[in-house]
Amino acid sequence: MNLKLRCEDYGFECEFALDEEKSIELIRKLREHFEEEHGIEYTIEAVTQMITNRGHSLESIKK
Ligand SMILES: [Zn+2]
Repeated sequence: MNLKLRCEDYGFECEFALDEEKSIELIRKLREHFEEEHGIEYTIEAVTQMITNRGHSLESIKK
């Protein structure tokens, strides 16, 4: 199942978006984007929490 993540949903004025299969790689990509484009180094755990807070279930990919 795909998960659509839009950077603007996480507080940035940015058109970056991901629409890919729900996986740890998807979370990594969003985390890298925050770091490279916005200079903010979130942990994977923090990004996972942010996505979960928006109502997306990530249970299927939790370690
Ligand atoms: Zn962005």
